Amino acid sequence: MKITTRIIEEILSNIVGDDLPPLLNLLKDKKNVSEFKLAEQLNISVNQVRNMLYRLYKHNLVSFVRRKDKKKGWYIYYWTLNMHEVKRAVQEFKHKQLDEFRKRLAKETEGTFFVCPNRCMRMKQEAAMECEFRCQECGELMFMQDNRRTIENIKNRINELEEELKASEREIDELRKRKRTAKKRAIRKKKASSKKTVKKKTAKEKTAKKKKGAKKIQKKLSAKEKKKIIKRPVKKIVKNIVKKVSKKKK
Ligand SMILES: [Zn+2]
Repeated sequence: MKITTRIIEEILSNIVGDDLPPLLNLLKDKKNVSEFKLAEQLNISVNQVRNMLYRLYKHNLVSFVRRKDKKKGWYIYYWTLNMHEVKRAVQEFKHKQLDEFRKRLAKETEGTFFVCPNRCMRMKQEAAMECEFRCQECGELMFMQDNRRTIENIKNRINELEEELKASEREIDELRKRKRTAKKRAIRKKKASSKKTVKKKTAKEKTAKKKKGAKKIQKKLSAKEKKKIIKRPVKKIVKNIVKKVSKKKK
């Protein structure tokens, strides 16, 4: 099913409000559109745009990313139409329509209808009999309607909807498959990169160990040096004492 602007307008305005088509048009086929830009293009306030966007957001029809404006210090929201969800919503709506058409077809084929020549009302034979085939609005005599054309029209519409739904289901399946393979690819990539980081870690750890070892050796060395430093003066002191004592003896 090709999602044309007309379909989006028709169906989404049915779901989320009839003021949305211009906004949907601006979001269609784009990514991360600034809400300020949207407000400017629609010539309405940012708050008004946000109100519309939240309505879409409630139905999961848009997604956003938030970025801080470095100059002004506040957050700006960038919006993207969630095409997958839009398609799903369109499909749901069409299923409902199809149900309604099928019910109407059953009604039309089962019953006989009477209409007023002035088109005020249309009713089933039983109801028309009750009011003696008189129109309840204008009093005109009602006549039996040949509804073969109506039935034909409903049947055509049902066929169309069924074809459209089949096509859209195929398309959604295709999208799902593409998403799944993309996910798998991402997982594989993640695994590969995590292996790399493990390798990097061990390499880092090795160098750290080497450094530690070097420090230990240094520590040992310095301890020995300290001992030497301490030993030397003691030796000197002893030598001096020995010298003094030997001098006194003399
Ligand atoms: Zn009438």
